Amino acid sequence: MDHALYTKYPLSVVNSLTRQKEVFEPINPPLVGMYLCGPTVYGDPHLGHARSAVNFDVIFRYLAFLGYKVRYVRNITDVGHLEDEVAGAGEDKVSKKARLEKLEPMEIVQLYTYRYRDALRLLNVLPPSIEPSATGHIIEQIEIIQSILKHGYAYEVNGSIYFDLGKYAQEQEYGQISGKVLEDLQSGSRQTEGLDEKRSPHDFALWKKANPEHIMRWDSPWGEGFPGWHLECTAMSTKYLGETFDIHGGGLDLQFPHHEAEVAQSYGAFHNHPANYWIHHNLITIDGQKMSKSKGNFITLDQLFTGDHALLVQAYSPATIRFFILQAHYRSPVDFSNEALQAAEKGLTRLLNAQETLGKLNHQSGTIDEKLNKEINQLCEQCYWEMSDDFNTAKLIAVLFDLSSKINGFNHQKLDLAAISTETFQHLRKTFQDFISEVLGLQAEATNDTQQKEGLIELLISIRNQARANKDFATSDQIRDQLKELGVQLKDEKAGSTTYSFTN
Ligand code: ZN
Repeated sequence: MDHALYTKYPLSVVNSLTRQKEVFEPINPPLVGMYLCGPTVYGDPHLGHARSAVNFDVIFRYLAFLGYKVRYVRNITDVGHLEDEVAGAGEDKVSKKARLEKLEPMEIVQLYTYRYRDALRLLNVLPPSIEPSATGHIIEQIEIIQSILKHGYAYEVNGSIYFDLGKYAQEQEYGQISGKVLEDLQSGSRQTEGLDEKRSPHDFALWKKANPEHIMRWDSPWGEGFPGWHLECTAMSTKYLGETFDIHGGGLDLQFPHHEAEVAQSYGAFHNHPANYWIHHNLITIDGQKMSKSKGNFITLDQLFTGDHALLVQAYSPATIRFFILQAHYRSPVDFSNEALQAAEKGLTRLLNAQETLGKLNHQSGTIDEKLNKEINQLCEQCYWEMSDDFNTAKLIAVLFDLSSKINGFNHQKLDLAAISTETFQHLRKTFQDFISEVLGLQAEATNDTQQKEGLIELLISIRNQARANKDFATSDQIRDQLKELGVQLKDEKAGSTTYSFTN
């Protein structure tokens, strides 16, 4: 007997490979293998990182919710990602940051990996099953290069190995994911570093010879060097998920050249296509513009959580950011603005309040109103269908708002709670709870935590003021000193009031 929800609510996904909506059929159900290209850890996590992690967190959660057993691999890129991604040229991003900050590259990697994980934990993103790093898989990458060389799809020049796209394109269609045509790319290409070594400008490096000044370097059959960026994802996805697996994910910006390169590498090494379903999320703009450091509109997650940025009129809780991202379907663009985030904050509060209200409703059946009964059940069923239709969180949230109105109606006795059956009431409770907490991962803790903390500090300040009024300076000083040790600095203003700030 099969009680898994995925048989009742079969999932369909839009596959970037075919540009079609397809019924999702994993290779070995109930097992699902999913790989997501993770961050290059050389700077603070920002909204783009949040979108990718949150969108795929919900995909991960919903697959598990439907009854699949998911192995979710999300990598950490800590070597080989060069400044000019398209040309595969420039300095290694991690190396450059290490040089500028006079730190070991691995110090940079460690620092920003922690920062990334901390931010994601606040966003209530579940950790992946495996989080492998590129530098931890140098041997696997060398083995894949050897296999590609053996099959004749790569060539060596002066200690570097390049993938031979010309040879590949004779046998396979290049650009299936991005829609790019190789000839157009090559005619429009700029002169770039290493071009004299390559047979064709878009051949990409599998292995690069390290110049004497290059810090990150490993021994290989071709001398000391470092792997190309695209190669790590082929090495780590196939190691943990097999040569062909179910889902490969990433942002739209990774389709070219990164994912095209992965497809080519898999063919060169294994004569396989790496993944059956390619899922790409859309990107985030800020007030209609692409986020970039040079435009001054680059906002880190820390800055969003604290409100410490010129473009921000207030701080936004991680739950608000999460909800803001999920209000859009993952394939739709998202534009950030203070107004949009403030609206998200209100919307989230409305949903969480309805959830709390629902928990307090006391149901006893009376005369059943068939129409209302049916309406509630249909809305509950619709939650499943919206999510099973290509993970449509935008439509799911709209249905949850409809249900919130019903819940508030019951609460304010505009609707008769006794007019729905016990089964319907239980269906409503379970569905609302499951989709808000388990599937969307929305929770109030982040905001409540802050309110609670602020409330406790205010309480201590008022006790201290009383102590001072009673000339009990021992107690007053004790409160001030111990709060200081906890990172809360009190300041007595001239007007007699006391303010506080956090020192860490
Ligand atoms: Zn990747």
